[in-house]
Amino acid sequence: MHTLHGWTALVTGASSGIGEACALALSQAGVRLVLVGRREDRLRALASKLAVPAHPLVLDVRSRPDVEAALAALPAEFASVDILVNNAGLALGTDAAHQASLDDWETMIDTNCKGLVYLTHALLPGMVRRNRGHIVNLGSVAATYPYPGGNIYGATKAFLHQFSQNLKADLVGTRVRVTDVQPGMVETEFSQVRFRGDTQRASKLYEGMEPLTAADIADVVQWCVTRPAHVNINVVEVMPADQG
Ligand code: NDP
Repeated sequence: MHTLHGWTALVTGASSGIGEACALALSQAGVRLVLVGRREDRLRALASKLAVPAHPLVLDVRSRPDVEAALAALPAEFASVDILVNNAGLALGTDAAHQASLDDWETMIDTNCKGLVYLTHALLPGMVRRNRGHIVNLGSVAATYPYPGGNIYGATKAFLHQFSQNLKADLVGTRVRVTDVQPGMVETEFSQVRFRGDTQRASKLYEGMEPLTAADIADVVQWCVTRPAHVNINVVEVMPADQG
């Protein structure tokens, strides 16, 4: 097993769901953490629970200048980021493409694609210089399997997949690894965001089935980053047993 002792991880979207679970799992492996999100209270509460040094970083990943400035100004103890978990993301709306809101589409592109690109562009050169690192991108089965209303969300996750694969090609010959983790249905705040706070509609999604938990996905992320250094897990698709 690959030891993460002395490593630092930055997790975007650490204020809830899969990102929070990944931060908890990585902290148990002794990794120092930078916790990124917009909800400061959530980030601070999580940081205070962790048994490792943790730095809450309030940041909107859609803002290129904010991302560049915040990452350039990380405290020295957290400045050498070895693991980047690009997890911040969202789906908005369920309308068919001909009825969907262009504002929603733009928000998904700005968060799921541009945010991913800004964080990666800022942190990858340091990983290559130090010849160690791992970028874990939270994709989705929506990249592969279309569904009604999935339109731009699915497309953003296909972008993430293709970006991950091309990064991997550029990084051959280094010990910097790239993984695209593609979950099926995970019960988090994701559906509440998608349905704009309609919790009833969100919980209906899981009727008659047992969805994945955020901890299930964090286990997978943990497994990927602890493989021996010469092993790159390119893509992992994780479905609930109940999801077809
Ligand atoms: P949550 O809604 O629980 O978490 C999303 C996280 O993203 C929050 O912490 C939120 O923090 C953060 N975030 C959203 N927008 C921004 C932004 N502009 N800047 C910074 N942070 C932002 O959902 P999940 O944990 O389920 O989702 C995590 C990832 O997993 C997403 O990329 C999602 O697409 C993917 N995924 C989820 C699935 C599911 O069924 N739940 C299935 C497949 C993939 P804050 O609001 O504080 O900024």
